[in-house]
Amino acid sequence: MTTVYPKLVVSKEMIYQNAARVVDRCAAAGISVTGVTKGVSGREMIVRAMAEAGCAEIGDSRMSDLEFIRTLDLGIPLLLLRIPMPSELPRVVKTADRTLVSMPETVSLIDKECSIADCTHEVIVMIDLGDLREGIWMENVEEMVDHLKRTERVRCAGVGSNFGCFGGALPAPEKLELLASLGTKLESSLGYPLEVCSGGSTSSLKLVEQGAVPKGINNLRVGEGILLGVDVTGDRAVPWLNQHTMRLEAEVIEVYRKPSVPVGPLGLNAFGKEPVFDDRGERLRAILAVGRQDVLIDGLEPEASGARILGGSSDHMIVDVEDVHPRVKLGDVMHFFPDYGAMLALSTSPFVLFDVV
Ligand SMILES: *Cc1c(COP(=O)(O)O)cnc(C)c1O
Repeated sequence: MTTVYPKLVVSKEMIYQNAARVVDRCAAAGISVTGVTKGVSGREMIVRAMAEAGCAEIGDSRMSDLEFIRTLDLGIPLLLLRIPMPSELPRVVKTADRTLVSMPETVSLIDKECSIADCTHEVIVMIDLGDLREGIWMENVEEMVDHLKRTERVRCAGVGSNFGCFGGALPAPEKLELLASLGTKLESSLGYPLEVCSGGSTSSLKLVEQGAVPKGINNLRVGEGILLGVDVTGDRAVPWLNQHTMRLEAEVIEVYRKPSVPVGPLGLNAFGKEPVFDDRGERLRAILAVGRQDVLIDGLEPEASGARILGGSSDHMIVDVEDVHPRVKLGDVMHFFPDYGAMLALSTSPFVLFDVV
C-alpha cells in the first residue's frame, strides 16, 4: 500500500485519555464536560473517543459537522457552539439539541422555525463578561426574558460564558460567581429551573485544578485541552494531560546547502510581505511538500531536534536541517507537532490525510 503525504496522524488513545482525565477531574467538582470537536472537524474516531470517555455532550461550531455526528447515534446531546446564522436555523432545529444564543431576536427566530418543523429546541444564553466575543452584555441579560417567556417551543437550558476566545480575558472565580448569579436571576425571572451554567472552556480547567470553581457552575466546554493537552490562554501545557497527541508527517522533496540570505535585490514574498533573514552562512535546507494550503506554518514545532522552520509558501515549507542527525535526505518523512491553529487548518485542508491510529 502506498502512503499518502502530507498526513495528520492522531492518537485516539491519547485523546481518549485526555478526555477521561478531564471528565474525572470535572466530575469531582460537580461539573459535566461538553467535548468540543470543531478543532478536528468532528472526525468520527475523535468524537467517539470523547463520548466513550464520558463527555456528557458533544459540541461543534459547524452544522455540517453536527449533521455528521448525528449519524453516529451516540445517545448524548449535540450542542451548536457558534451562535447560529438565521439562514441555517432550519438545519439547526432539525439536528442540534441545544444552541448557544446571544440575541433575543435569535430566540424568536428559533421559535418560529420550531413551529414550522413541529419540534422543540433548547438554548443556552451566552453572557459576555468581558471577553468581547459573543454574548449579551452582563448588564442586559433581562432583555432576554420577554422573548424567552413568549416562545412556545424554545426552552432556556441555562447560561454560559466565554473566556480567552477573543479578548484573552481570563476566567476568574469572581467572574464565574457573577455568571452563576446571573443564571439564578434569569431562572427566577423565567420561573423554571435552569439546568446548565457553563463556565467556559479549556482555560477554566486551571480553576478546577485549584478547587476554585464557584458553586453553581456545572459545565465546561472543552476542546483544546482534550485534543492537544494545552491551554493557550493560560500559556501552559496542562501537566496532567498528554501533549503531542497528533503529528503532521510531510515528505522531503529537495535537500541542498544554500545561503541563508537571498541573493540580489529583494522584493516582497508571495504573500506581499517583506521577508527577514538571519545570515547564518550556508545551511542545509530541506523543502517539504506541505504549505499554506495545508497548514498554518507558524503553528508547527519540528519533532527532530536541531530542525528549524524557516518559512513557506502555498505548497512548500522550508526547514533548516543543518543540525539534524542523521542527515535528512530526499524522500524522508519529517514530523511536526501542530498548535490549535495548525490543527484546525490540517483538519480542514482537502489535501491532508487524517489518519487515526
Ligand atoms: C471552541 C469553543 C469552546 C472550546 O474552547 P477550547 O479552548 O478549545 O476548550 C467552547 N465554547 C465555545 C463557544 C467555543 O466556540
